[in-house]
Formats: sequence, C-alpha cells, structure tokens
Amino acid sequence: MWTETDAEAARISALCDEDFHAELERRFGLHLGDIALAGPRRAYPLGLFIARSFVAERIALVGDAAHVIHPIAGQGLNMGLRDVAALAEAIVDAARLGLDIGGADVLDRYQRWRRFDTMAMGVATDGLNRLFSNRSDVLRLARDIGLGVVERLPMVKDFFIREAAGITGDVPKLLKGEALYTVNTLVDALNLCSLRAQLPFGLYDLDRVEPPIVLRRGTPGESYEGIRKAAVHVEGRPVLVDARGPFGNPTSDSARTMITTACRRALVIVYAPGRFPPARLQSVLDETTATLTRWSGGSECARQVLP
Ligand SMILES: Cc1cc2nc3c(=O)[nH]c(=O)nc-3n(C[C@H](O)[C@H](O)[C@H](O)COP(=O)(O)OP(=O)(O)OC[C@H]3O[C@@H](n4cnc5c(N)ncnc54)[C@H](O)[C@@H]3O)c2cc1C
Repeated sequence: MWTETDAEAARISALCDEDFHAELERRFGLHLGDIALAGPRRAYPLGLFIARSFVAERIALVGDAAHVIHPIAGQGLNMGLRDVAALAEAIVDAARLGLDIGGADVLDRYQRWRRFDTMAMGVATDGLNRLFSNRSDVLRLARDIGLGVVERLPMVKDFFIREAAGITGDVPKLLKGEALYTVNTLVDALNLCSLRAQLPFGLYDLDRVEPPIVLRRGTPGESYEGIRKAAVHVEGRPVLVDARGPFGNPTSDSARTMITTACRRALVIVYAPGRFPPARLQSVLDETTATLTRWSGGSECARQVLP
C-alpha cells in the first residue's frame, strides 16, 4: 500500500509509466527485487469514517457502510466480516427466544458488540498511518525502535498478530468456525414455554412413539440413549415408557423420539408436581398451545392430565 498526500498522489498518478516506475523503485528500494507493474494504476482517497450509530429503527450498518479505515493494516474487509458474524449471531439468538429480530434490544446488542472494537481499530490504524507517514526524525527513530522491540519479543508480536487476525476479545461464533444455533421453531418455542412456566417440559416425535404410553418409576438398570448419545439412567426416577421401552424423563429426551425437521405430530409432556394448582396447570397448557401454534402452526388434537 503506497499512501501519499493528495498533492503528491496527483503528481505521481500523472507520471508516465517509466517515470512512475523510477519513482516506485526510489521509494520502495530494490530489496524485494525488480518491481514490474502488473496492471493499471489506481488512486483512492483515504480517510477515517465511523458512523455515529451503527443502528437505527430496523436498520443495521455493516462493513464499509459503518466504517471506513485506512488500509495500512489490511483490516477493512475483516472488520466487515466480524460485523456480519456478530449481527447474524444476535439475530439468531433473538429468533430462538421468539424476540423481534429487528427490535431495538437486538440491534443495540450488535452495536455494543462492534462499535467499540471498530473505534479502537480505527484509532490504531489512523495512528499507524500518521506514524509511518511522518517525516520527523524523532518519530522515525521511535517507530524503528518500536518495530525492533516487537520483532524481538515473541509474546508482543503474537499479541499483535492475534489482534490483526481478529481472534481476541468477544469473537462471534462464525469467526471461530463454530455454527450458529439452528432454529427449530417447535423445540425453541417449547423451551420458551418451559422457561415461562418454570416447569420441565418434554417434546417427542409422536410418530416415533408406540402407544400405550405410561409414566412410571424407572426399574433397576433401566436406561435409554439420550439425544447427545450418552445413556440416560432412570432407575428409581420418573420415566416415560412406550411399547418399545423408556424414552424420556423431566431432564433428558431420547435420541429415538427426538424432534427433527421431519416431525409432523408432536407429543408435549408438562411435568408438574402433584401439589401444582389445577387451574394454574390449565393456564400453562393453554399458553403452551397458543405459543406452539403461533410459532409452528398446526393445532392441538388432544389433552390429558394424568394423576
Ligand atoms: C486500496 C484499498 C486496499 C484495501 N486493502 C485491504 C486489505 O488488504 N484487507 C482488508 O481486509 N481490507 C482492505 N481494504 C478495505 C476493503 O476493501 C473494504 O473494507 C471492503 O471491500 C468493504 O466491503 P463492503 O462490502 O462493506 O463494501 P464495498 O466493497 O464498498 O461494497 C459495496 C458495494 O455496494 C455497491 N453500491 C454502492 N452504492 C450502491 C447503490 N446505491 N446501489 C447499488 N449498489 C451500490 C458498490 O458498487 C459496491 O459494490 C482496502 C481498501 C482499499 C480502498
């Protein structure tokens, strides 16, 4: 990256190829070997612009729409990718909780996540540019000493490399190579119901369950394969059992009956203590039906309260 003052940039851009090449070699030296132009030259105005706010009503700015920094550290595109990853994560987290994905809270979370980091990077690159383009002998000496120190201290060098790679601080999942949570509206809507009611809920694919279904105490050695593959031991604990054996309890659902995107009929179990007020239980069931049908469609086909 060759940066110049506006006047010098205009003068150099207007040079013929031969003079331009001579100027380039004079400035860069020949330590990289012979330099040859590979294409047409282009000049871009450079500046530091950071939007006063990254968000407005139902709007979020990402990439260069939110910030334009000096390319001296090669960070512009990286910062834009970090914006996109942070915004995607904020949106998916909100969708899982059934919140409005364009709501002020969600956008605020994105802005808090990205704006400080952007300001810090903008100030750092602007400072670097001023340091490297300054002709003062004192500043040049300080800069050369600084670079020498960084080169000799692996920990300090490693810190700068990690900063430049964007892998410090609160790194969005996508940039860490992790997947965002997938949104299964039925599972997530049910988790929301469970949180609201403060009761454990179970959710099972009814087409993978073979009636009759009973709730009983687990027998010695009884277990089933949990959703994350580990065996769930249910001896002496409440367990749901169908014709094929145990398939769920208040804390773990089974791999056999788990909900997938292919599920068309679901069995919802609300585990409530015996002393739970019956009227309150009915309103929990009503709210659950309303929430599930609102987010996942369908309708309630049967309801039963077991003693
Ligand atoms: C000389 C230079 C070198 C750089 N080097 C690096 C580097 O080494 N590493 C790095 O990470 N970053 C670098 N950057 C920064 C990087 O290029 C930008 O940060 C990045 O391209 C921004 O991506 P963006 O998608 O946000 O915006 P842009 O790439 O600007 O994309 C915006 C697009 O929107 C289009 N558009 C604009 N207005 C309209 C409209 N009204 N209707 C329809 N389309 C429209 C534009 O034509 C453009 O295609 C450099 C920048 C410059 C100028």
